[in-house]
Amino acid sequence: MGQRVTGLWPVLRQVTGSDKTAHGAAVRTAHTDAITARTETADRVVKSVCPFCAVGCGQDVYVKDEQVVQIEGDPDSPISRGRLCPKGSASKSLVTSPTRVTTVRYRRPGGTDWEDLPLATAMDMIADRVLQARHDGWQELDDRGRKLRRTMGFASLGGATLDNEENYLMKKLYTALGAVQIENQARI
Ligand code: SF4
Repeated sequence: MGQRVTGLWPVLRQVTGSDKTAHGAAVRTAHTDAITARTETADRVVKSVCPFCAVGCGQDVYVKDEQVVQIEGDPDSPISRGRLCPKGSASKSLVTSPTRVTTVRYRRPGGTDWEDLPLATAMDMIADRVLQARHDGWQELDDRGRKLRRTMGFASLGGATLDNEENYLMKKLYTALGAVQIENQARI
């Protein structure tokens, strides 16, 4: 019995067998042979970009029954060439974690606790505040009577993981609203 168990040790099979680097047969078990990778049973693969940091590594997102089942590095990405760091490798949990917050959370002024809001309500509240800030910070003319027609009521500072298309839309929206302080640090 003891000999049969020790004969299964991967390190023993590595040093006595032909798989000296232990990348193949030396580390396989009956269980390994019986299971199938989620990447092989997925319905489709969607190209994406890791949302964690400004490196912007390419990701292959594997989907089965419209659920994300696995995320791998995208070998076609010229930036990361199939690699993901530990954060990017774990990014599936951003979508599937049971602790993920999926409702709008709001703590009103003076409130001591968070409450759930319908998304439409939250969007209306944001729109109201933007319009109010735009109005309160509006400058029609400068001190010499020249036209400004701008608002200093709000500014935009985009994050590193906003992509070109998102920044394009944000710039268009905020400029149309009259904002002049619009910045981002996009790298993807
Ligand atoms: S995989 Fe890591 S290095 Fe690449 S974008 Fe994501 S967090 Fe950044």
